[in-house]
Amino acid sequence: MARKLFALCDANSFYASCERIFRPDLTRKAIVVLSNNDGCVVTRSAEAKALGIKNGTPAFRIADLVKSGKVIPFSSNYELYADISGRMMRTIGGLVPAIEPYSIDECFMDITGMPGDTTELLTTIRSRVLQWIGIPTCVSSARTKTLAKLANHLAKTYKGLHGVLDWESLEAKRQVRAMSLVPVEEVWGIGRRISSRLEEQGVRTALEFSRLPASLVRKQFGVTLERTHAELNGESCLALEVEAPPKQQILRSRSFAKPTKERAVVEAAVATHLAEAARILRTQKMAATVVEVFFQTNPFSARTPQYFAQGAAIFGRPTADTLKLTSAAESVVRAKWRDGFEIRKAGVMLAGLEDADRIEPDLFTKEDEEKSRALMRTLDSVNRRYGKGALVTGSSIASDKWQMSRGLLSPCYTTRWEDIPKVS
Ligand SMILES: [Mg+2]
Repeated sequence: MARKLFALCDANSFYASCERIFRPDLTRKAIVVLSNNDGCVVTRSAEAKALGIKNGTPAFRIADLVKSGKVIPFSSNYELYADISGRMMRTIGGLVPAIEPYSIDECFMDITGMPGDTTELLTTIRSRVLQWIGIPTCVSSARTKTLAKLANHLAKTYKGLHGVLDWESLEAKRQVRAMSLVPVEEVWGIGRRISSRLEEQGVRTALEFSRLPASLVRKQFGVTLERTHAELNGESCLALEVEAPPKQQILRSRSFAKPTKERAVVEAAVATHLAEAARILRTQKMAATVVEVFFQTNPFSARTPQYFAQGAAIFGRPTADTLKLTSAAESVVRAKWRDGFEIRKAGVMLAGLEDADRIEPDLFTKEDEEKSRALMRTLDSVNRRYGKGALVTGSSIASDKWQMSRGLLSPCYTTRWEDIPKVS
């Protein structure tokens, strides 16, 4: 059998690159994307990095750079990023036998036994994603996922590689040299905590780590890191996980932009989370037996009275119907509501998930359930077609006071008709 060969495609400054696709005027501009509520910097374009802006910098610290036009800030436009991510994954999926989306902007591929020159294949993937989607990436390959990650880091760091690196094409002595240039904390699976423990023992680079005895790594750091160690030495331990295991529960929650004392605001937040959770439920072809709802005050605020409410509704027959789930969740909110508290966060959890196809039809409810499924299909297809939120339940739009402040949001170019760029 041919030796395994993994590839990895990872976007450069993904959120910032998404913002650039429809704004060619920003090609060489420093761009930052801000976290929820426009709090702090979460993504920087290369130009923003060159200005010395660090991830996690609070937005007010860069106010002067923004005012003088040196930095262009954006609110997080997750709808845009998720859509571009899907396009990127589908494009890559068309070029290789199997892919494993690993995060919003990167995926592993199994390219074992693919004909032709590997570096050429990596270059094709890179230029296809750039041409079709407009997102710059780095693409790497190696016999293990951990080495593919390492090679990707090198491709990102060294301009001369033009964004691609097949680790296996390097001579052994260049591999050794390359590993000696990578700080140990850049190795995939080695977090800050472990890297500082390693550094205390004088292990500073990927090379030094790879040369530790495996038994010592296992004894001090456990089997997970032993696997990382083996992978770094060329022994593949982590397979491509093509299909994510179905979720056992679906949780959606978020803090409000501002605390609220109004029940209608909390109900609207719960209904919005529920609509999204139920949509995910249906894409997984599951149905839920339990809907759990919670809302709470800010536990870190010493000056306001505290309240944490939690309750659940249980269904006799599992359901994936947004309307049924919403009305059950609303009764929970009503039952648990107490006036006078400043509610800061709300969320829902769908649990007791069952395979929707395996639920026995029930003679007395069959007709209702078929109608409900048809209605949900319509709801999902309208929202797919016209953008998330095109068709929503009444309760979720009763109030948007809980929504994040995203004053610097770009248009949803690819998912809302009214936001489609116009060419004049
Ligand atoms: Mg990335």
